[in-house]
Amino acid sequence: MTFNSLGLSDSLLRAIAQSGYTVPTPIQARAIPAILEGRDVMAAAQTGTGKTAGFVLPILQNLYITSRAKPGQVRALILTPTRELAAQVHDSILTYGRNEQLSSAVVFGGVNINPQLRILRRGVDLLVATPGRLLDLYQQGAVNFDALEILVLDEADRMLDMGFIRDIRRILNLLPNQRQNLMFSATFSKEIRQLAGSICRRPVEIDVAPRNSTVDAIAQKLLRVEKGEKADLLTELLAATHEQVLVFTRTKHGANKLVKKLAKDSISATAIHGNKSQAQRTRALDEFKRNKVQVLVATDIAARGIDIELLNLVINFDLPQVPEDYVHRIGRTGRAGASGQAISLVSSEENKQLRAIEALIKRKIEPLAMPA
Ligand code: AMP
Repeated sequence: MTFNSLGLSDSLLRAIAQSGYTVPTPIQARAIPAILEGRDVMAAAQTGTGKTAGFVLPILQNLYITSRAKPGQVRALILTPTRELAAQVHDSILTYGRNEQLSSAVVFGGVNINPQLRILRRGVDLLVATPGRLLDLYQQGAVNFDALEILVLDEADRMLDMGFIRDIRRILNLLPNQRQNLMFSATFSKEIRQLAGSICRRPVEIDVAPRNSTVDAIAQKLLRVEKGEKADLLTELLAATHEQVLVFTRTKHGANKLVKKLAKDSISATAIHGNKSQAQRTRALDEFKRNKVQVLVATDIAARGIDIELLNLVINFDLPQVPEDYVHRIGRTGRAGASGQAISLVSSEENKQLRAIEALIKRKIEPLAMPA
């Protein structure tokens, strides 16, 4: 299977070639033709499956053939739960749309609203937004949805987890009825199906990554350790590898404490979590991507949607409260077909969480044999 058979225009195929992609991922192979046909799509796909290109490419093509956005208008609206994901989706639009004559913008909270007001007043073909900031901008009269053609909900499950349902419903009420709807979600729970039922019309359902097969590609191990000894054990694990590692903690405070402790042990680390400003988060992610630090310590919500390539190891310093988060966390390794490893540090207080995770992934996580 090549990109040529999916029905994409020459200019998009050129942008794909420039990105160095030769073969479409399974989600791309199925979503792109369906979206090009104008169908609604409901896809179960996690970050790392290539889902972003799977909707950005056909949207760029669908928009191209009609007219441009007039002042205040938006033609395709992509809603994401986090600022990081919004910024990444917009980067993809710039990359894949480099040969198209379409305008785009990204808006999220935590930064000055004035430049966003100015950009939206001019009108944009593609807008990536987090729900709260989009509503602010709408209330200030910067944007209208009269010309909206396409709606995307990216990481819909996380939007519900983060309590965005009311904002989403408010936004839905503002949109024209006649539109194309695309929904992406790592999991399809009852709530997500209900939401999809109220948004999508006869959607094409795509499920490329059933939960267990994703998890199967990752070597998962645990280390039994008492709570007070976790930090020293982590230092030992990190000192034994020169690779970059993503470490998860349950709390923001825990993430900060860990970064300090690692610095004391001469291990370079930086943290990314919800209490950090947008600039701080971008800087931390950038340092990690440019290999300036070995370790990125993240909380579950902050880590969602961040795009880090070729990560071989994820360490769970704490187990997550919600078992689904375990699957999201370890999904950050073994991307794009590469194999990965996930190690969880488990204290006796965390047995309940461990059992819930093992029940969810339908397998036992075996102990890791530590080198003497
Ligand atoms: P996503 O799931 O959209 O976050 O994409 C995961 C990563 O895969 C991103 O870094 C993309 O640049 C990359 N990617 C997307 N499509 C392809 C492809 N067809 N071949 C190789 N890499 C890809």
